[in-house]
Amino acid sequence: MLKCTFCGRRAAYHRRYAGVLLCDRCLIKSVAKRFRRAIAEHQMISPRGRVALAVSGGKDSIALMHLLAEYCKQKNCELVAITIDEGIKGYRNRSVPMARENAESLGVEYVVVSFKLAFGATLDQMVKLAKLKKTGLNPCTYCGVMRRSLLNQAARELEADKLATAHNLDDEVQAIMLNYVRADLSRLHRLGPTYPPQKGFVPRIKPLREVLEKEVALYALLSGLKVHLGVCPYASGIHTEIRDFLNELETNHPNSKFMILRMFERLKPHIARVTPKFEMRRCELCGEQTSADICKSCELLKGLGLKRLQKTLISPKCS
Ligand code: SF4
Ligand code: ZN
Ligand code: ZN
Repeated sequence: MLKCTFCGRRAAYHRRYAGVLLCDRCLIKSVAKRFRRAIAEHQMISPRGRVALAVSGGKDSIALMHLLAEYCKQKNCELVAITIDEGIKGYRNRSVPMARENAESLGVEYVVVSFKLAFGATLDQMVKLAKLKKTGLNPCTYCGVMRRSLLNQAARELEADKLATAHNLDDEVQAIMLNYVRADLSRLHRLGPTYPPQKGFVPRIKPLREVLEKEVALYALLSGLKVHLGVCPYASGIHTEIRDFLNELETNHPNSKFMILRMFERLKPHIARVTPKFEMRRCELCGEQTSADICKSCELLKGLGLKRLQKTLISPKCS
């Protein structure tokens, strides 16, 4: 029997990049420790603060909900979970009940905001419209831009002072690589454990940024959490290619993902210096902050013949 390097119990996981074996208890403790260390190091949560958490119902966001619920209880902070229901048949309609069930079991305030109510169309409908109108844009472009916008607005209306997302190390390194490949300096320099305060935006925090995806998954599994395991039917393209490439790299050269992250952190101040700065203003159509005349969400909606319908998201009918 392989034994845990730290306590001698049966090992459940080989942390190859560190050359150690961990049992279930030590793995759970280690993930919780990294979560707390990230919060402390980057002063992510202020005492008695109000944190909004983006929760999809998948393993990462459910694990983060449990970690944050415990943390907030100890630190006297408030936690509110927000699910954006994009309207993806066979996927989101299964993960939303899981998110709700976890929130209820933890006594966490829970809110659902849907694409359908906000924009008058589900993502499935937008994908059909995009095909008809030959926009050439993939579902993730619509989904990502509009979800970010709704999350920010919902967190602001809920008076949260931070918006936590469950990005893990794999997500962060994939985003770094994607922005390299696309040569997108302005998005690249915005990546980080926290997102600096900007008028109209609730500052984002990523407490799981230094935990490998498989360790978050094991944390959820070994803690017996109820999570939704489905995969989005639209997941494809360059994101999955970069993910597969990074996984192969990590298998052949353990610690590569951490090294990419560390290198990016060293480069970040230099990247910020050469990144053009934009003045922010209110979108002419929806009033959200943007660097152009109309925000990216409204631009995409316009291309589909749609528009933002709800000025206010948080009302009894969408919770
Ligand atoms: Fe949205 Fe794309 Fe993620 Fe599916 S894979 S939830 S479409 S961003
Ligand atoms: Zn152990
Ligand atoms: Zn707009």
